[in-house]
Amino acid sequence: MSDCLFCKIRDGEIPGDLVYEGDSVLAFNDINPQAPTHVLIIPREHIATLNDLEPKHSDVVGEMHLVAQQIARERDHAEDGYRTVFNCNAAAGQTVFHIHLHLLGGRNLGWPPG
Ligand code: 5GP
Ligand code: ZN
Repeated sequence: MSDCLFCKIRDGEIPGDLVYEGDSVLAFNDINPQAPTHVLIIPREHIATLNDLEPKHSDVVGEMHLVAQQIARERDHAEDGYRTVFNCNAAAGQTVFHIHLHLLGGRNLGWPPG
């Protein structure tokens, strides 16, 4: 999608601090990190919100979680713990409308979230 920030990062039109590049999934550091590890994991395919997921997306959504697991392990968060979050639409604070799995780790994370 031409005016989507994360499609532009995918296409190299704007810089992204990439930490993983796969056939169907990319991961890059969040520009405004909320924890020592704050990585965004996205599908290469533009999908605006979780509401737009279809059964055909189940493989890529699963892959996004496996990438989160891998990065968390690489950064030694697996034992201590970490969090993955999808925000969907305004009440959850979604600001970029290309789905992204937040991976947060490296500090104690409060619950419930704000
Ligand atoms: P949301 O609020 O939609 O769940 O999360 C959007 C995330 O994208 C935020 O954590 C925000 O800091 C991050 N973000 C916004 N613009 C950019 C950007 O240009 N580059 C990167 N790497 N992250 C961004
Ligand atoms: Zn997009």
